[in-house]
Amino acid sequence: MESSRRDFLKKGSLLAIAGIGAQFLSNNIAKAASSLVEEDKFSVFKLDPLPYSYDALEPHIDKQTMEIHYTKHHQAYVNNLNAALKDGKIESSLDDLLKNTAKYSLAVRNNAGGHWNHTFFWKSMAPNAGGSPKNTEFLSAIDASFGTMESFIARFEETAAKRFGSGWAWLIKTPDNKLVISSTPNQDNPLMDVATEKGRPILALDVWEHAYYLKYQNRRAEYVKAWWNLVNWEVVTQRFQGI
Ligand code: MN
Repeated sequence: MESSRRDFLKKGSLLAIAGIGAQFLSNNIAKAASSLVEEDKFSVFKLDPLPYSYDALEPHIDKQTMEIHYTKHHQAYVNNLNAALKDGKIESSLDDLLKNTAKYSLAVRNNAGGHWNHTFFWKSMAPNAGGSPKNTEFLSAIDASFGTMESFIARFEETAAKRFGSGWAWLIKTPDNKLVISSTPNQDNPLMDVATEKGRPILALDVWEHAYYLKYQNRRAEYVKAWWNLVNWEVVTQRFQGI
């Protein structure tokens, strides 16, 4: 009796050990498989860290606007992009996806644009920035396209003001290397195959109400004027140079 009980316990332990082993193996196989799948379809776009604190752009853009804009709006574009891509075919990167937006659903177009545009917008600004660009090659290109820096600023502000509803104002470099001011509706951008004016973005301004309404309410023009104090011309110049 005693011996058969011991035997029973021994067998039970062995079975338990085997069970743990099997569980361990299957967990690891599942892990390996899921990382392969993730790599393959890379459908997990992520929110990059904001390059400064939420209050760093005060007083021109207030802390609460920055926090909501980044943690709610931008995060939602990332989440919705990942969700939308699960239903369809995926290109190899966000940039490729933008070049082929016509092939995708409106949800992919809106959220891929939203993710790209905001990442670009955060990097276009910095605390204690503003002023004027220093690079002479960039300044000459501005002069060649717009006459003077002042008239570039005036035309950019006009474009931002005229965007009806939600959208963006851009400075882009066209395929023939000209600087052009353009505007896109919603979350479209100049990298998209569906854009009216295509080019490589150099500078972007978000003119959706969520970008300014808490502080400026309906006064978009005031927000746009204040925003020049935040433009990171160093980064903008690097983009112009293709760095
Ligand atoms: Mn926005």
